[in-house]
Amino acid sequence: MHIEFHGAAQEVTGSCHLIQVGHYRILLDCGLIQGGKYGEQRNAEPFPFDPKRIDAVVLSHSHLDHCGRIPLLVKRGFKGPVYTQKVCREMCGIMFRDAANIYDHDTRTLNRKRARKHQPPVEPLYTADDAEKALQHFQPKDYDVEDEILPGIRIRFKDAGHIIGSSIVELWLEEGRHKRKVVFTGDLGHSEAPILRDPAPIPNADVVLMESTYGGRCHRPWQESMDEMGQILNEAAQSKGNILIPSFAVGRTQELLYLFSEYFDEWNLGRWQIFLDSPMAIEATEVYLNHCELYNKEAKQRVLNHQALNSLSNLRLTKTPEESMALNRIASGAIIIAGSGMCEGGRIRHHFKYQLWKRNTKVLMVGFQAKGTLGRQLVEGAETVKLWGETVNVGATVHTVGGFSAHADQEELIGWLQHFKKQPKVILVHGEPGAQDALQQEVEQRLGYRPDIAKPEQKLDLIQMRYESLEKSAD
Ligand SMILES: [Zn+2]
Ligand SMILES: [Zn+2]
Repeated sequence: MHIEFHGAAQEVTGSCHLIQVGHYRILLDCGLIQGGKYGEQRNAEPFPFDPKRIDAVVLSHSHLDHCGRIPLLVKRGFKGPVYTQKVCREMCGIMFRDAANIYDHDTRTLNRKRARKHQPPVEPLYTADDAEKALQHFQPKDYDVEDEILPGIRIRFKDAGHIIGSSIVELWLEEGRHKRKVVFTGDLGHSEAPILRDPAPIPNADVVLMESTYGGRCHRPWQESMDEMGQILNEAAQSKGNILIPSFAVGRTQELLYLFSEYFDEWNLGRWQIFLDSPMAIEATEVYLNHCELYNKEAKQRVLNHQALNSLSNLRLTKTPEESMALNRIASGAIIIAGSGMCEGGRIRHHFKYQLWKRNTKVLMVGFQAKGTLGRQLVEGAETVKLWGETVNVGATVHTVGGFSAHADQEELIGWLQHFKKQPKVILVHGEPGAQDALQQEVEQRLGYRPDIAKPEQKLDLIQMRYESLEKSAD
């Protein structure tokens, strides 16, 4: 009985852990490695295990860094079921189809260039067809129901409050007379964020695999961010321009819409036309609207009072490219929410082309902007940017509103650990080394024990509770 850490070990993306119990092997998540060319190469490499010998996948949530290689796993011979919370399955449908579309587009572009150099064509990581096949393997589950998925392996999904349908996974493992309980946090939500519930407390575990994305910092108080949003919207109304908001399709967009409805009067939003200009975000918003049962108390109450997500009378959903292009003709008074969140693709780039040079345009950043992205350039005050080879002057004012996050911060991570009645063995995953070190020290100081940091070359023997090197004992 052991765990191997095949992804998100001393890094954030590519979540993938293998648990072996007796003859059975399951994967916790099978995510994409994200970030640059090198990440793409690593995704295409052979898995460090045989996909045909994996009996099941247990999936925490539908972000691609957790689920994005499942279609590839199926393409390479995985035959078993994928267990996940049922709304997560719906979301995976949206995510896989979108990813396959992007791969298709990018591979075609690349192959045209390769053809001109007499180079052989390359294959996409997976196609829309592979994505559909992978979805056939999904076996959706409800939260809070215990289930035996293989002899000696029982699981239960608990709400992680991170994005809709996200789970913390509890696993009860049995091999001979040995019993162990493992808890995998997936990604834990930020308790101040609206709509979803807080991460469920878990009272018991022998081993906890815990995310540590923001293990090294604390989020800005929510109310401060809301006050700042109000101020920026006011200034924007005075300068009589448009507001462009690059936003992640899943989670952040729905939070924004929710806040717009909550602060509709306070922020005087009636004077704006609001456009949700992203087909993927529109689909994801529909899933959120269809699953109010997963909202927190306050959001449920707003649904009953007809004040939630869909109550914005001046919200237009622009699905088609024609509808999106028509927005270029609006000179002022429009708030346009479009993908992608870091401005690397999607319709936001088209809006930038038409509006970024204008002095009365405002760009509102509400999400993390990674190094090397167009979004980051804007945040860092670039005076010009390149769009489709053309240099565009940045006349717009760029505002960053911090405080939005889908992840628990250091304080919340420690708060969640405090729910365990008996001290478990905590292993940190899904974090950069700096964040992990900071969390390790803080937990040691405040809770009196030192969490481990998962290393890719090690496995944890769950019976002896000892780390071993992977190569030595590989069978
Ligand atoms: Zn996530
Ligand atoms: Zn993640």
